[in-house]
Amino acid sequence: MNRSEEFIELEHRYGAHNYHPLPVVLAKGEGAFVWDVEGKKYFDFLSAYSAVNQGHCHPKIVKALCDQAQTLTLTSRAFYNDCLGPYEKYITEYFGYDKVLPMNTGAEADETALKLTRRWGYKVKGIPDNEAIIICCEGNFHGRTISIISMSSDPDSYGQFGPYTPGFIQIPYNDSKALEDVLEKHGDKVAGFLVEPIQGEAGVFVPDNGYLKTCYDLCKKHNVLFIADEVQTGIARTGKLLASDHEGIRPDIIILGKALSGGVIPVSAVLADDDIMLTIGPGEHGSTFGGFCLAGKVAVAALEVVKEEKLAEKSEYLGQIFRDEMNNFKSEMIELVRGKGLLNAIIIRPKNGKEAWDVCVKMRDMGVLAKPTHGHIIRFAPPLVITEPELREAIEIIKKAIQFFE
Ligand SMILES: *Cc1c(COP(=O)(O)O)cnc(C)c1O
Repeated sequence: MNRSEEFIELEHRYGAHNYHPLPVVLAKGEGAFVWDVEGKKYFDFLSAYSAVNQGHCHPKIVKALCDQAQTLTLTSRAFYNDCLGPYEKYITEYFGYDKVLPMNTGAEADETALKLTRRWGYKVKGIPDNEAIIICCEGNFHGRTISIISMSSDPDSYGQFGPYTPGFIQIPYNDSKALEDVLEKHGDKVAGFLVEPIQGEAGVFVPDNGYLKTCYDLCKKHNVLFIADEVQTGIARTGKLLASDHEGIRPDIIILGKALSGGVIPVSAVLADDDIMLTIGPGEHGSTFGGFCLAGKVAVAALEVVKEEKLAEKSEYLGQIFRDEMNNFKSEMIELVRGKGLLNAIIIRPKNGKEAWDVCVKMRDMGVLAKPTHGHIIRFAPPLVITEPELREAIEIIKKAIQFFE
């Protein structure tokens, strides 16, 4: 056994089998690159599901982490500290909302948004107690908790984990008429509509232009909160700071996670204005670690990097190059290229029994790491700090890997 095989064997033997990783064992990361335990270098085209948009081990973010780690890490919210307030001021001004509620993982932030939406439904909209409805979309991915998988349409996510949380109505994604129908029928009991501006885990499913805006207007018409899960699409990934910005809408609630910390520690957040956020009072929701000192410092640094290095603009520009190159590349195995900014996917048409997984293993051999999602789709999402020459080099590798199976 080489060292890689030893580490894979350890995970297999002692860890739960809730993931099926590509066989590569990483030991180091810097910018757009990672290295395996044998010292081989790769382009990272997953970016930890878009958590490392700012690049691996970004020096400014790591410094913020290390400095604070030697000073004060965690106080809990039983006391005030000198990190949380400045972080809250920074992030709310950055995104233009009255208030933030800090959490740790994306799923927790989604749960928080669901609770806020229900609470607003009762306290502000006046929905009778325990009757609030939240509308969600087929193909969604919002995390792994019981309430969240109660919204899922993916049997892998929800199967044999019931009984499920009631109060959700699922409609097809990218279908504003379906939303209109539910709102016409149940509007007085609907508190919110939860949507991913682009469905990431579903395979980078980009809705039609105007879909989000139409849904937003429908929500306004029926006094329903429009909630954008930007855990994967936010923080410059799609070529704007938020994917919602592409359609000029300002969601009532924004959910952020992943790249909010540059991939350094779990940091998530829910943003909303006072009329929504202040419906939850002391003792009614919380988290021991939510908004802890390290999180505040790291998140400010991570958000500063996005502005200082113009990552949204870079993502927009480089993403166009990626799609142009891949669209001009003729291969029988490429069924479709889609995405926005540097959140892209290629739908693979299997050939001679070879499918997306085989392409990913071949790319790994040639120095590019990406992972199939839903069998036949490969997501391509490098850290946004990748340079144009690096991107072009990686594109050539991706093309060669696909050509290998022709
Ligand atoms: C990854 C993701 C989540 C869940 O985040 P975790 O930190 O894994 O809990 C929620 N929503 C979307 C859109 C995601 O991509």
